[in-house]
Amino acid sequence: MSDDLQLPTEDQRAPQTVPPRIGVVGAGQLARMMLGPAIELDLPLIVLASAEQESAAVAASEVRLGRHDDETAVRDLAREVDVLTFDHEHVPTGYLERLKAEGRVQVRPGPGALVNAQDKLVMRRHLSDLGHPCPRWWHVKDIADLEQALRENSGPVVVKTPRGGYDGHGVRIVERAEDAADWLEQHGELLAEQKVPFTRELSAQVARRPGGQTATYPVVQSVQRDGVCYEVVAPAPDLDEAAQHRIQRLAAAIAEDLGVTGMLAVELFETADGTVLVNELAMRPHNTGHWSMDAAVTGQFEQHLRAVADLPLGSTNLLAPCAVMVNLLGGSAPELVSGARAAMEADPGIKVHLYGKSVRPGRKLGHVTVVGEDPVQLLARAHRAEELIVDGPKSPDTTGRADEAVTSGGHPNPDRPRTPEETL
Ligand code: ADP
Repeated sequence: MSDDLQLPTEDQRAPQTVPPRIGVVGAGQLARMMLGPAIELDLPLIVLASAEQESAAVAASEVRLGRHDDETAVRDLAREVDVLTFDHEHVPTGYLERLKAEGRVQVRPGPGALVNAQDKLVMRRHLSDLGHPCPRWWHVKDIADLEQALRENSGPVVVKTPRGGYDGHGVRIVERAEDAADWLEQHGELLAEQKVPFTRELSAQVARRPGGQTATYPVVQSVQRDGVCYEVVAPAPDLDEAAQHRIQRLAAAIAEDLGVTGMLAVELFETADGTVLVNELAMRPHNTGHWSMDAAVTGQFEQHLRAVADLPLGSTNLLAPCAVMVNLLGGSAPELVSGARAAMEADPGIKVHLYGKSVRPGRKLGHVTVVGEDPVQLLARAHRAEELIVDGPKSPDTTGRADEAVTSGGHPNPDRPRTPEETL
């Protein structure tokens, strides 16, 4: 395709007879998990990896080396594809604005939507202006603003760096304004939020096509460990149908209001009286939607590709009454292969997903999913597999402990929802 060729706008396009080529910026596990569905749908996919050993780079047939924050690398990828999408939200929006203005490639989600997943201050401002439920929040530009937030909140606030945070990095509970002075100096501005006394965290996934078609997934319950997603139950237990639908409508409305294309995850806090507040947004497949790969008619990775390729969306129906996903976070085993083998042998019903990453304590290395009827039993099975995989198979004299967890419905790892203090 020559550089100065202008593609017709979306509405003028003739129905495509060849599949759109998709470029994914970033080569983490999310890009990796798009590869299977891309093959199944015969969508050519190229990943932009910053290093050859990245999770998707070791698995993809088409890899370009370059960083997401190198405009030339992003543009070079864009030149080769019809649709640009993302493994993460950190591509500077300026690059994407320029690509969008040139019209050679479809950027999905577009920069105007994506900025809400990049910048928590922008997200809070937009969602509040649109009337979507958020925790009380303050834009902190100096120590005096933070002092005021602490006064108005009558207690500690949760302070967040607007950009670049992930897995709890960039989130801090602050009791005295000086506790965030270093961040203020570093970032220039911060987001402060009321510390929500949530009883649990929920997440709602929705896919949206460029023309506006949406497909919502069942709302799920998620548990974080040290700020990292650890456990997901789909659908969220004890969430009545009316609340399910209300939250699904909220997620679809946010997708529509922000003009998201692709998967949107809306992370939420639920409080004791059933109130739901938006925590944050992700515009890509999300950890709280991994269960859908094995337990929904259309998994979120396939759905993301369908949405960004402007293909009809697939059914989000569950294939079983309940699904549980548990993350495999680096533990004591130096490699996961022997533990994964033991887990598969112990329970043929579990689905094991490994991301091809080297082991580091706490690092997201994979996940397991179990589908069935009873969330308590499914959690026990998933955690048993998790323990075998991340800590390695036990010697015969200690295996009994893991078995107990299955038969008792208990769990060697604490699986109750964490309080905010434990989570942060
Ligand atoms: P990240 O972008 O790193 O995922 P989040 O904003 O999602 O950061 O915060 C990480 C975790 O911190 C959340 O999952 C939640 O458990 C806790 N948390 C964040 N904001 C608040 C808040 N306003 N009140 C209480 N807990 C919070």
